[in-house]
Amino acid sequence: MHPTSRLRRASVVLGLCAALVGAPAAAAEPATAPAPPVITADQVMPHLDALQRIADRDGGNRAHGTPGYRDSVAYVKAALDRAGFRTALHRFTHDGATGYNLIADWPGGDPEHVVFAGAHLDSVAAGPGINDNGSGSAALLATALEVSRARLTPDRHLRFAWWGAEEAGMVGSGAYVRDLSAADRERIDVYLNVDMAGTRNIRQWLVVHDDPAATAAFEDWFAARKLPTFDIGIGGSDHVSFGDAGIPVGGFATGLDECLHEACDRVENVDPHTETLSTNALIAAVWQLAARH
Ligand SMILES: [Zn+2]
Repeated sequence: MHPTSRLRRASVVLGLCAALVGAPAAAAEPATAPAPPVITADQVMPHLDALQRIADRDGGNRAHGTPGYRDSVAYVKAALDRAGFRTALHRFTHDGATGYNLIADWPGGDPEHVVFAGAHLDSVAAGPGINDNGSGSAALLATALEVSRARLTPDRHLRFAWWGAEEAGMVGSGAYVRDLSAADRERIDVYLNVDMAGTRNIRQWLVVHDDPAATAAFEDWFAARKLPTFDIGIGGSDHVSFGDAGIPVGGFATGLDECLHEACDRVENVDPHTETLSTNALIAAVWQLAARH
């Protein structure tokens, strides 16, 4: 971990302590915070069907540098544009091919305090990557579309990203964080990541433990539903690109399965019930963190 990130975390912890000392307990939760919506499987699984169709049409995968990846970006971008997000493509080069991160901002909220959620949209070359990580991408898209449907007016600014070339070593998210100015990095209060959200025969939700508010948001949500979790510390996916830059992170994953990085990682490899629960956990965390405490 970079030494400046320790400094930053220390000051965040001190700030929290000061706020707790100074404020009455009842003020911790704003009375006006809206309850998060709850989605059903038919609001998230169609996105996985769409990504499967793209892979089927484009040679069986959605990997960096392929038509399958570009069509995946176009699908998600079109849905976000229709819903009123400001979308932009962040370009990078890897392995001789142009890569794309899709960034989507929800208009409004304090731009000095950004809540950022992301998932990688690329697959490996060997298969369609529907659980890894169409499932996280679909959960993130369903969450963004709920923000739009609710016409959410968050206190903090909301940004979403679908990363390219994660399977090549977190290349897209790494390039994005490198291209941020120091001031823009400081504006990100927390980054949440979802890498696999619909694993079949799930044993437990693997929860990132770093940012205290994000950790509590996920752990409390799963605990309230008696769903088992496991503390993976930081874990390893695109949030590491943010964590290495001193940005507090959170998120979860539903774990590996026998079709990981294989041709059988198709839509049939995703459990709709787990995918729906994961999406609702993400929605609840975004709603909670978007309201300033
Ligand atoms: Zn993945």
